[in-house]
Amino acid sequence: MLTKGEGISIKGLKARLHREKRLTPELREKFRKVYGLRFERAIKAVAQHNVYKYVFRPSGRVLWIVVGRQKDYLIYPDMYCSCSDFYLNSVVRKKVDACYHILARILAEFLGFYDVLYASDDEYVSLFNELGEVLKAD
Ligand SMILES: [Zn+2]
Repeated sequence: MLTKGEGISIKGLKARLHREKRLTPELREKFRKVYGLRFERAIKAVAQHNVYKYVFRPSGRVLWIVVGRQKDYLIYPDMYCSCSDFYLNSVVRKKVDACYHILARILAEFLGFYDVLYASDDEYVSLFNELGEVLKAD
């Protein structure tokens, strides 16, 4: 059983990941207990190179994208994903604090297993729109 403070949130698990410096079997088990199938999918997404980091020039602004089965999803690290699982189960029902895309991004970044794509700042808006997001001014 997991006890409180032992890494039952995405932030706690991420902190442990960085403290232990690798995805130990024990930590892997914790992730699996908390996130179940979401964790399995995240591992698969990382292994299949579905995590992308867009770096925009010259601003240096970053967008993380996880390629899903049907579409691409926009991730704000550890906080938000544009998928319906995140909306329904994290925002509305508050059942779980991350979808598999958010987990995949964390694992990919930690393992250095993601692809970096460079784009111009002009493309930022069109990429954002492509993802069906409402663009908010900074
Ligand atoms: Zn998601």
